[in-house]
Amino acid sequence: MEQSSPGLLLVVSGPSGVGKTSIVHEVVRRFRGEFSVSATTRAAGPGEVDGRDYHFIDQTRFQRMIDAHEFLEYAQVFGRSWYGTPRAPVLAALAAGRVIVLDIDVQGAEQVRASHPGMFGIFILPPSEEDLLVRLRARAREDEAAIERRLAESTHEIARARSDGTFDAFVVNDDLGRCIEKVCELLVSRLGAGAASTRH
Ligand code: 5GP
Repeated sequence: MEQSSPGLLLVVSGPSGVGKTSIVHEVVRRFRGEFSVSATTRAAGPGEVDGRDYHFIDQTRFQRMIDAHEFLEYAQVFGRSWYGTPRAPVLAALAAGRVIVLDIDVQGAEQVRASHPGMFGIFILPPSEEDLLVRLRARAREDEAAIERRLAESTHEIARARSDGTFDAFVVNDDLGRCIEKVCELLVSRLGAGAASTRH
C-alpha cells in the first residue's frame, strides 16, 4: 500500500462519450487541482496534444515503464491500446496536498482502489443507452462499427462498475452543468470529511 498523504486522489470513470473530459477539466479548474496525464499506445486523435491530453508513446516504451514500476495502474482498454497512469506526478500532487484527477477506466479504478483505499471514485453514467449512442456519433471520431463496439463495451463497463464497489458515487450526466455541480458538491463534502479521516 502507498503511504498516506494529505491530498485527494479523485478517480473519474464512465463510458466513452459520456462527457468525462469536460467534467474532469472543470473540476481541476475549480479545485485548483491537477489532471493526471496518462500514457497511451494509441495514436493521437485530431486536436489532441502530446503531454497535455496524453503522453503518446509506443509499445516498447510502455513496456519499459511497466517493467520499471512507473505506473500507478495500467490496463489494456477495449482489448486494443494500452493506457497507464504515471505514478510519480500523482504522488507528488498528493504530497503537496492537492486534488489530483484521474480519468481512467474501471479496470484502472479497481487497481487504484487496491493501492489507495482512500481514493474517491465517481462513475459518470449516461442518461440512457440511446443518449450515449447519439453522443458517440456526434463526436465523429470513429466509424459506425467502432461506435457500436464502444456502446457494447460501455454496457459491460457500467455493469462492472455497479457490481464491484470501487465507486463512491454514480452521477448521471443528463445536463453537463448540473452534472459538474453534483460532482463538485460530492468533492466538497468529501474534502470536508477528509479532514477528520486518516484513510488515504
Ligand atoms: P480514449 O481513447 O477515448 O481517450 O480513452 C479510452 C478509455 O481509456 C477511457 O475510458 C479512459 O477513461 C481510459 N483511460 C485513459 N487513460 C487511462 C489510464 O491511464 N488508465 C486506464 N486504466 N484507463 C485510461
